[in-house]
Amino acid sequence: MNGKAAQRVASGHPWIFESDVTDRGEARGGDTVCVAAPGGRALGMALYSAKSKITLRMISSRVEPVDRVFLLRRMQNALDLRRGMVLDCDAYRVIYGEADLLPGLVVDRYADCLVLQALNQSIDRLTPLIVDALTELLSPTAIIARNDVAVRTQEDLPLESKILHGVLPNDLTITMNGLQLRADLLGGQKTGIYLDQRENYSAASRYAKGRVLDCFTSTGGFALHMASKCDTVEAIDSSANALAVAQANAQRNQLGNIQFLEANAFDLLAGHAAARRSFDVIVLDPPAFTKSRSAVEAAMRGYKEINLRALQLLQPGGVLISCSCSHHVSEAMMLEAIAGASLDTGRQLRVLERRTQSQDHPILLTVPETHYLKCIILQVL
Ligand code: SAH
Repeated sequence: MNGKAAQRVASGHPWIFESDVTDRGEARGGDTVCVAAPGGRALGMALYSAKSKITLRMISSRVEPVDRVFLLRRMQNALDLRRGMVLDCDAYRVIYGEADLLPGLVVDRYADCLVLQALNQSIDRLTPLIVDALTELLSPTAIIARNDVAVRTQEDLPLESKILHGVLPNDLTITMNGLQLRADLLGGQKTGIYLDQRENYSAASRYAKGRVLDCFTSTGGFALHMASKCDTVEAIDSSANALAVAQANAQRNQLGNIQFLEANAFDLLAGHAAARRSFDVIVLDPPAFTKSRSAVEAAMRGYKEINLRALQLLQPGGVLISCSCSHHVSEAMMLEAIAGASLDTGRQLRVLERRTQSQDHPILLTVPETHYLKCIILQVL
């Protein structure tokens, strides 16, 4: 690699881009390779991709085999971190890629089942070893691959969901903060449930009161957590499949005060403003408005717009819970968009909490990409 890449590695970032790789030797896509700085000094081991713009991902700062023993050690460390960190829940992220020093590997636990995502060529090739190691450490009843994620096309890998090990129970239910939630591991959004919002659901439930509006509810995470603490919840999403799961979850938990609606959030908010409806708490958890740096400006207009529409519906004293899961949008940018909406609507806001993804999705300080979720809680004065 060139000096620029060596410097990047020295500054704590594991990715080395195509243009900074000077000599690929005999390496084939999916190999685990030893990488050298200019002058030949070995910097450690990296996962090699023959297709992605990210050609190398550092996996160790030592020259060592990346084998079953290596994987077991990294996975055990990841498990140790989660012990005591995840309370009242048998669903959480066991391995979060770069942040657990296993670039491109995601493993989520749902009760006795595991869901795995292999996001680069090397992790894909290592999957049988990974399945072996997970079986030894956790004895799961099933391991599912949710490899139907778009980034795999950048690696020339097929998009597929399949069972890698064991048998998947028909009606898998997990417990989260006292709620029983059905998880659709093979067909649901993400790996089944938005585990990264688990701690934010608890936080949101502390503000629940009166009439709550949960835009982008998906399988109902926020709505279900807030329903027992308020009069009514209106929960909307554009996906009928997600709403069907949400509805079943409401019944299972005997929550009869949630009204689920299939709608476009932008239109619905505008309609409510025209009809002079008002709410005490509004949750906004839209999909990432941008997955690329180039579309950030348009995305910021989207965030401002949706926050503005929500603010028009909030009572004085009302609470806005505003999320963004795009890592291209920093917390500062979000606060700026919300401030813009606040000024345009003449509603003064106080920041009550600045939150992020649950602790089982740890953030690596020198890898900003590992920090993607922002959840800002504000109160209208
Ligand atoms: N709050 C949810 C996660 C939301 S993910 C939870 O905690 O589980 C984003 C959701 O927005 C998806 O379910 C998607 O179906 C929905 N969505 C995308 N565009 C939408 C739109 N224009 N209007 C309403 N919902 C939309």
